Amino acid sequence: MSDKPIAHRSIMDIAAYMPGKSKSPSGQALAKLSANESPLGASPKAIEAYRNYATHLAEYPDGGATALREAIGAVHGLDPARIGVGAGSDEILHLLAQAYVGPGDETLMSQYGFLVYPIVTNAAGGTCVKAPEKDLKADVDALLDAVTEKTKIVFLANPNNPTGSYLGEDQIDRLHQGLRPDILLVLDAAYAEYVNAPDYEAGINLVNRADNVVMTRTFSKIGLANLRVGWFYGPAHILDVYNRLRGPFNVNGIAQAAATAAVQDEAFTAELKAHNSKMRDELVERLQSNRFKTYPSQCNFVLTEFGDEAGFTAADAFNLLMEKGLIVREMHSYGLPNCLRISIGTEAQMKLVIQTLQEMSDHG
Ligand SMILES: *Cc1c(COP(=O)(O)O)cnc(C)c1O
Repeated sequence: MSDKPIAHRSIMDIAAYMPGKSKSPSGQALAKLSANESPLGASPKAIEAYRNYATHLAEYPDGGATALREAIGAVHGLDPARIGVGAGSDEILHLLAQAYVGPGDETLMSQYGFLVYPIVTNAAGGTCVKAPEKDLKADVDALLDAVTEKTKIVFLANPNNPTGSYLGEDQIDRLHQGLRPDILLVLDAAYAEYVNAPDYEAGINLVNRADNVVMTRTFSKIGLANLRVGWFYGPAHILDVYNRLRGPFNVNGIAQAAATAAVQDEAFTAELKAHNSKMRDELVERLQSNRFKTYPSQCNFVLTEFGDEAGFTAADAFNLLMEKGLIVREMHSYGLPNCLRISIGTEAQMKLVIQTLQEMSDHG
């Protein structure tokens, strides 16, 4: 007998998720280009809805999140009955794993996929298997090869964090066609609002014709990261499971009110996308022909790879940027120690990033 309560072994195997840093070692607050937040803040309409909600703090929220699900349905052309909401898409991923994965089961993700998938898998008692990638891009054949009789969920971030790469609709269809009908395919479209690629489809078409596909989305990357709101679109039988499992008031009323206003503020979402596309293109273009490689990104960040030569490594770039008051994301925990993930910030912040990295490169 133990002298204290002991958690399940699979919980103790979890490597805790490391959020992007926001302070230098000396405690100085830095411009945070490490967490893929909105550089333009929140929608002014969402802020107004948030303020107006202050008189309701003593009341329980609408557990069914009716107004929010209806607003999402109206904007995206979806049946609100097939939309579920959660405290961030993190909660949705956790609950899907709890519902469909148990001890001895496997989930599958691609090698450089989002690091929350192994956490939610372990939390449910399962094991997360990683399929190799080619040039930092999910590989449909490798994923299908890695499926076993124990596979219960395939998690695919599309486009992916931290690589920025994506699979077109044809590739996603091919992945889906290769999966048994009892395997749940979770298409995590956290960055859908930022994608420009014409052959991309977030997952709505596939959910509409399949019984084993869910598309997850989030408000975190479009200005409401602090409020923790995510949503998903899926088949009715999965909504039924989700609604049994979730807490009855899992998304608070302030978050619901602000998210409802945010999804309706399509002009703000369009402004964010336009800003992001412009800054992302400029960053990639200005960093060409230098000592680093940028990976093509459909997201609100750019993964940049550095070399081994002293003075030009990822660690050197990280420190130089920090001296300028900018913090970006180191990639050791993703197994990409030569890379930095640079979130798209304001115009001034991006100028400073480009200038700093160009100066570093020119010193060679
Ligand atoms: C940021 C992110 C999420 C969203 O997480 P929230 O819990 O909604 O803040 C989900 N998936 C990926 C791939 C992400 O990068």
